Amino acid sequence: MKKCALITGASGGIGSEIALRLAKDGFDIAACYNSDENGIKELEKNLLQTGVRYKIYKADVSDFNTIKDVFADATDFFGGVSVLVNNAGIAQQKLFTDITQEDFDRITAVNFKGVFNCCQCAVPSMINKKSGKIINISSMWGVCGASCETVYSATKAAVIGFSKALARELAPSNIQVNCIAPGAIDTKMNDNLSEEDKESFAREIPMGRFGTAAEIAGVVSFLASSDSDYVTAQVIIADGGLI
Ligand code: NAD
Repeated sequence: MKKCALITGASGGIGSEIALRLAKDGFDIAACYNSDENGIKELEKNLLQTGVRYKIYKADVSDFNTIKDVFADATDFFGGVSVLVNNAGIAQQKLFTDITQEDFDRITAVNFKGVFNCCQCAVPSMINKKSGKIINISSMWGVCGASCETVYSATKAAVIGFSKALARELAPSNIQVNCIAPGAIDTKMNDNLSEEDKESFAREIPMGRFGTAAEIAGVVSFLASSDSDYVTAQVIIADGGLI
């Protein structure tokens, strides 16, 4: 039986590329998203062409009971989830003094509690099978912090701390937990930047350009493969040399 990879935020720029790349690598795909119907339709069209088995789930990662149902269904349908990619995330640019209680609660619920929820649902069967890979998409801002993105940066740092701790706890069960910390990647998440802002930001990056979602999917592909079986508790920064 083929292995199944569950990807959250699969309708988005990075998530859809990850789903497609893992499908091309031979995984069955459980694609979880919350919004962007066009994005998920486009992914479905591309998944159809790969010929893999796939299922689409509309679910909010911050809602534990919904996520529990998604994993129960994916376990029935695919026979288990071998690779979990926690990619769903939201960003916000605001001065620290303007951030509301609601902003704080929503960003932490999606970016951090969402990762916790999906891991709690995925891990018991991985422990039973003594095998599994968890790949958490953090951010370079979780490593070095970004001005006007304090809560976003904090949630992404939390994902790194959580992943390192979980990696050590699950290592005896042959489950690897790693993070990817992307730099500036050309997706809708950066649509708030003007072309001029993007160009000036790109000039600060040693490689002189934004990364592509496919380049992040390539790192996920490595961490999902047996080539990374001895790699755990790591953060791979894919940022063109910026930080
Ligand atoms: P995107 O906005 O294109 O996609 C975000 C995805 O997350 C969408 O599929 C959306 O449906 C999903 N999502 C949002 N809230 C959700 C929720 N409550 N439940 C389930 N799914 C939800 O953004 P992207 O650039 O593809 O970002 C993907 C990940 O990469 C995010 O975690 C983001 O923080 C991280 N990241 C992005 C960049 C970048 O420059 N684009 C840089 C570093 C890290």
